[in-house]
Amino acid sequence: MASYDFLIVGAGIVGAAIAYRLAPHGRVAILEKEAQPGYHATGRSTATFVESYGGQAAHLLTVASRGFLESPPAGFCDGALLARRGNLRFARPGQREQLAQTLAACGPRIPDLAIISQQDALALCPPLRPELVDCALYEPRAADMDVHAIHQGYLRAARAQGADIYTETPLEHIERRAEGHPGRRQDARHWRIHAKDRVIEARWLINAAGAWADNIARLAGVRPLGITPKRRTVVTFTPPAGGAIDHWPLVRDADESFYFKPFGGDILLTPADETPLAPCDAQPEEIDIAIALARMQAATGIAPSHLASRWAGLRSFTRDERPAIGRAADEPYFFWAAGLGGYGIQTSPAIGFMTAHLLADAPLPTAVEADLTALIPDLAPARFS
Ligand SMILES: Cc1cc2nc3c(=O)[nH]c(=O)nc-3n(C[C@H](O)[C@H](O)[C@H](O)COP(=O)(O)OP(=O)(O)OC[C@H]3O[C@@H](n4cnc5c(N)ncnc54)[C@H](O)[C@@H]3O)c2cc1C
Repeated sequence: MASYDFLIVGAGIVGAAIAYRLAPHGRVAILEKEAQPGYHATGRSTATFVESYGGQAAHLLTVASRGFLESPPAGFCDGALLARRGNLRFARPGQREQLAQTLAACGPRIPDLAIISQQDALALCPPLRPELVDCALYEPRAADMDVHAIHQGYLRAARAQGADIYTETPLEHIERRAEGHPGRRQDARHWRIHAKDRVIEARWLINAAGAWADNIARLAGVRPLGITPKRRTVVTFTPPAGGAIDHWPLVRDADESFYFKPFGGDILLTPADETPLAPCDAQPEEIDIAIALARMQAATGIAPSHLASRWAGLRSFTRDERPAIGRAADEPYFFWAAGLGGYGIQTSPAIGFMTAHLLADAPLPTAVEADLTALIPDLAPARFS
């Protein structure tokens, strides 16, 4: 029977980042039910790094992740992980205060974040209808991420440090056992995991199962946190002939009722839908696509005649929309790494740092130590008990 110190459920970006950081500290394995790690939320994102996005916790985690994504260690990847693309969040008349609040909250850690005039916003994205734009919050150092390279970089480096990655191996049954764990005190408790045809023992169970995180807790006899998966729909289409779009920023409105950005020569668009769903292989609905196209046309006059691609994915949220990172209040050897909402890729380096710090006493990087240390109680799952 295989035996590990850390058994991670889920090989999405969160499980992969954690495996990468824990591998130097013990025997690590990841269980993934799909054939392809990244098949669910991780492979369906819109691949954007925006430090002013989400609430304060997402902001601090993203700021703490920039250093790694800008300068990954030698051999982690072949090319750059970030490619600069500004983020333009425009305010309609009467919405300026919303931008001012974000600027006040995020400005101290994003020095070039600024409110710009209607004229400057339209210069960055000329098709925007002037009557809809009062002003905009512009983050010039936002970026497109190479999600595949980040995810594969974590998995490759974890494997190189001895981690085992079991794909097509759904965790189905969990026992909490009291007898001996190899190499440990005879009275140590441990998990015995049944996954497909494997039986695996582990000291720590790390729940990085994304939309399925509450299901894993139930299997382990741990109280679920009430994590809600919400569907988000994405389409891409060919831009109107004659318009140069590559230099456009990502454009969203203050309330995030939609956003769009250039995407490999096409335009990527989402209605920013948030439909609660049971965990599943999410698929796009015609109604959400129609809403996306209507909002695009209303804001820019652009009306695509056909779509190049469409997809949907689940963004999973805790009740307060802050990630849950830490030990379960009712089972200290069950670790939550879930509820990463719409920022799990851009925060994954910080989630890896924090988890290795909490589980293996790994030091936090000096530059981000104060912010991440302050966040630990805010993200602790015990806040829900
Ligand atoms: C449309 C969309 C746009 C987004 N845009 C961005 C963005 O621009 N920037 C950003 O940072 N984030 C973005 N996100 C959010 C980001 O994709 C998620 O926060 C992130 O991928 C979550 O990663 P995860 O590893 O927690 O989940 P997942 O990638 O879903 O991984 C969880 C894994 O657990 C596995 N699993 C579940 N149950 C079991 C079991 N019983 N046994 C074994 N394995 C199991 C699943 O198969 C899955 O592979 C977006 C998401 C969507 C849907």
